[in-house]
Amino acid sequence: ASGSDNNDVVVIGGGPGGYVAAIKAAQLGLKTTCIEKRGTLGGTCLNVGCIPSKALLHSSHMYHEAKHTFANHGVKLASVEVDLPAMMGQKDKAVGNLTKGIEGLFKKNKVNYVKGYGKFLSPSEVSVDTLEGGSTIVKGKNIIIATGSDVKSLPGITIDEERIVSSTGALALKEVPKRLVVIGAGYIGLEMGSVWGRLGSEVTVVEFGPDIVPTMDGEVRKQFQRSLEKQKMKFILKTKVVSVDTTGNGVKLTLEPAAGGDQTSLEADVVLVSAGRVPFTAGLELDKIGVQTDKAGRILVNERFATNVPGVYAIGDVIPGPMLAHKAEEDGVACVEYIAGKEGHVDYDLVPGVVYTHPEVASVGKTEEQVKTLGVDYRVGKFPFLANSRAKAIDDAEGVVKILAEKETDKILGVHIMAPNAGELIHEAVLALQYGASSEDIARTCHAHPTMSEAVKEAAMATYDKPIHI
Ligand code: FAD
Repeated sequence: ASGSDNNDVVVIGGGPGGYVAAIKAAQLGLKTTCIEKRGTLGGTCLNVGCIPSKALLHSSHMYHEAKHTFANHGVKLASVEVDLPAMMGQKDKAVGNLTKGIEGLFKKNKVNYVKGYGKFLSPSEVSVDTLEGGSTIVKGKNIIIATGSDVKSLPGITIDEERIVSSTGALALKEVPKRLVVIGAGYIGLEMGSVWGRLGSEVTVVEFGPDIVPTMDGEVRKQFQRSLEKQKMKFILKTKVVSVDTTGNGVKLTLEPAAGGDQTSLEADVVLVSAGRVPFTAGLELDKIGVQTDKAGRILVNERFATNVPGVYAIGDVIPGPMLAHKAEEDGVACVEYIAGKEGHVDYDLVPGVVYTHPEVASVGKTEEQVKTLGVDYRVGKFPFLANSRAKAIDDAEGVVKILAEKETDKILGVHIMAPNAGELIHEAVLALQYGASSEDIARTCHAHPTMSEAVKEAAMATYDKPIHI
C-alpha cells in the first residue's frame, strides 16, 4: 500500500480502537487510511492479549476438567496429557484467522492499510517507515492516535521473555514451569496464573496492595480469592518484589513487606511481570505537534476525543479510562461519529469488566464500596449459584450474583457476578443500567428455565422483595 494525500481520516494503530475507528469511518463515507507497525492487525488484544489468553484459558480449562471432573460425570478417560505445542498451535491458529479477518474487513470497507511505523510531521501529515523498507507520507484532515499501551516494567527487573516474562512471553512458554511467580494480582496476572496452574505449575502471586483486583466489589473479591486459593493459587499480599536474581538455575526473588521490614526470598522457574500497562507513544513525535499528555503519559482529550491540537484525536488505551478492548472500540466509533458531524457517546461508568478465570467474575456499575461513598441509601440483593438449578445440574455451582440498587427508587447502581459464564451473564445487567432500569424491572422479566441467567432474576427479586429459590 502507498501513502495517500487526501484522506478524511488517518488512524495510527490497528488495535481494537484503531481498526474499528477505521472501518466505521469508511462506513460513514470518509476516505480512510490505517497505519500499523506490527505487520498484523488487531493490536495487543488480538495478537498478544484478549484472544490468545482466552484461547489458552479455554484449552487449559478443558484439560483440567478432563483430568479432575469428567469422572464425576461418568466420563472415564484412560489417561489425560497436555500436548503444549498443539495447545499453542490452536491458539496461534485462532489469532492468525482473526487478524486476517480484519484485513478482509479493511478490503471490504475500502480502508487503505499502510504497514509501518508512523510519526507526526505536522497535525495533518504522518511519515511512515514502512515494513517493506523506505518511507511514505500519509496526509489527512483528521488524525486519530490509537497507539495503545505496552507492558509496564518494574525497576530492577529486566524482562527477557524466557525466565522473566511479560504477558506476551507467558502466552508462549515452551514448557510448563514447575514454579510460576506472578508479580501483580490484576486480571491479566490471575488469568495467566490460572492457565499455567491448570497445566501443572505451582503458582504464587505477589501483590503490592492489600487486595487482588482492587477495582472489584470487596465481598465478591473475597469469594473469588477463596475460589482461586482452592485451585491452589497462593497469594502474598502487601509485599513488593525488590529484586530478581537469574544467575542460578531458577530465579530467586527478594521480597519485602510493602510497609517496610525484613526481606524474604522466593524461588521460581518463571516469573510473570504483570504490574499494569502504560500508554504507548514512543517514536510518534507528539512533541513536534504539541499534543498534551498527563503525568502518566496518557494523551489528554475532551469528550469528543479531540486533543489540544485541532484535527488530532486519540482513543483507546492511550487515553485515560478503563484499558479494555471493548472500551477502545466504543471510543473509536464515537470519535469518528464526531468527525463525521454526528453525535457519539461512551459512558465509562457502564463499561463492563470481566476476569476470565473459572469461575469468571464480571461487573458493571458501582461496587458496594463506591455506593457507600455516594452516601445514598441502598439495598443489596444476592443469589448464590448453589441454589440455581442449571448450575447444580451441570455441577458447576460456585459463585453469586450481587445487585446494588438505590433504596428509594430501586434504580440499579451496580451488578457483580461470579459464575462460570459471568462474562456472558453480565450483559443483561449492562443493558439494565444503560436503560436506568430498577431491580424490579429485571425481576419481572421472564427468564428461561433452566439457565444461569435465572440467578440474575432471583438476585433482582432479592433486592426489592424476596427470591423464590432460597
Ligand atoms: P492496542 O491494542 O495496544 O493497539 C495499538 C496498536 O498500535 C498496536 O498494534 C501497535 O503496534 C500500533 N502502534 C503503536 N504505535 C504505532 C505507530 N507509531 N505507528 C504504527 N502503529 C503503531 N481487554 C479486554 O477488553 N478483554 C480482555 O480479555 C483482555 N485481555 C488482555 C490480556 C492481555 C494479556 C493483555 C496484555 C491485554 C488484554 N486486554 C483485554 C486489554 C486490551 O488488549 C487493550 O485494552 C486493547 O488492545 C486496547 O486497544 P487499543 O486499540 O487502544 O491499543
